[in-house]
Amino acid sequence: MEKAYRNNCYRCGRERIVVKVWKEKVENSVIENTESICPDKKCQEVVDQEIRRQRNKHLQAENKRKEMLRNRKIQLQIKTVRG
Ligand SMILES: [Zn+2]
Repeated sequence: MEKAYRNNCYRCGRERIVVKVWKEKVENSVIENTESICPDKKCQEVVDQEIRRQRNKHLQAENKRKEMLRNRKIQLQIKTVRG
């Protein structure tokens, strides 16, 4: 079973061009990664921008989460010191 799914651009619905395929070993299994682009260059630029924005958002959320965890840890330490 190869190509179980069609990789269509979510913006314009055109079939995306695979530019890179690589395999990655994760623990005991090998995962196949594909990098694809939209045949429409303008459309791909917009997609790239959106991905970048989402990644930034994700990073910000991750940083916030880390900060919260750190604060919680500090609070826990204070508690254990007091208790
Ligand atoms: Zn597209």
